Amino acid sequence: MNREDCEIVSNIELMPGIYLMWLQAPEIARRAQAGQFVMVACGTENTLRRPISIHSVEDDRFALLYAVVGKGTERLTHLQNGSKLDVLGPIGNGFQVFPMPAGTLSYLIIAGGIGIAPLRFLAEKVKPWCRQIIVLQGAATASKLYPKALLPKEISLTAATDDGSAGHKGFVTDLIPSFATTADVIVACGPMPMLKYLAENQTRLKLTGKPVSISLEMRMACGLGVCYGCTIRTKSGLKQVCKDGPVFDLNEVIWDEMARI
Ligand SMILES: Cc1cc2nc3c(=O)[nH]c(=O)nc-3n(C[C@H](O)[C@H](O)[C@H](O)COP(=O)(O)OP(=O)(O)OC[C@H]3O[C@@H](n4cnc5c(N)ncnc54)[C@H](O)[C@@H]3O)c2cc1C
Repeated sequence: MNREDCEIVSNIELMPGIYLMWLQAPEIARRAQAGQFVMVACGTENTLRRPISIHSVEDDRFALLYAVVGKGTERLTHLQNGSKLDVLGPIGNGFQVFPMPAGTLSYLIIAGGIGIAPLRFLAEKVKPWCRQIIVLQGAATASKLYPKALLPKEISLTAATDDGSAGHKGFVTDLIPSFATTADVIVACGPMPMLKYLAENQTRLKLTGKPVSISLEMRMACGLGVCYGCTIRTKSGLKQVCKDGPVFDLNEVIWDEMARI
């Protein structure tokens, strides 16, 4: 893991309340794996760093896609091009991306809200081995859907919005049964209730027998496996989301015992 004083290359409001920030960080960009995250020092008042997923990597730069939810992320919005951000990373296990013969896999990516953040990088990484990549994206409303133009062009995108302003009216999980049967690999990231719904409705969603990986966005304090603040119960014992995750097998997690849901 590296600590880098990264230069901010750009920091724009991509969708309402959601920002895309590009950072110059050669070491982090070189080592980043899809599904990993960084711990960001958002400002001097915030003693704790905030975990944000690696959203994209290009040459010696990487991007963060962050939703403004509190003090830390709000501070990030004020950072200007050319200023520095203290970042630790890359951290976490990331998604398993097995090199396969070209065109082998059908990949189904399920993104709820800001859950698209780590999944765009994953789509980019698995592209060479996929005959198809389907992204199911859910958001509250049309303006909060991640722009299709920023996804790899090979992707087939289907949207759902809570208010019906674009795509299917309802939750992104409503779309899953129509796509899951033909998928070889399924990955998901989104709010905890969405992930819990996947775990508890596998038959209805046609997920039974499929490898389903999820990325958990738990609250975490250190991000380094020291404080045990992000500990969860799994079938193979207690795990720390920062160190052992954030990516887990859907069926490994003991959902009933997730204290923070
Ligand atoms: C591994 C990992 C990767 C993440 N990747 C991203 C990402 O790519 N983009 C992004 O926008 N966010 C991501 N998050 C969530 C992000 O870390 C929090 O939104 C952020 O820490 C909030 O900081 P804050 O100071 O702005 O808000 P705070 O003042 O700390 O909190 C404000 C509100 O946000 C909620 N909140 C805080 N932390 C989390 C959390 N970890 N998960 C869910 N709700 C939270 C709190 O309940 C509170 O109501 C990730 C979290 C983890 C653990």
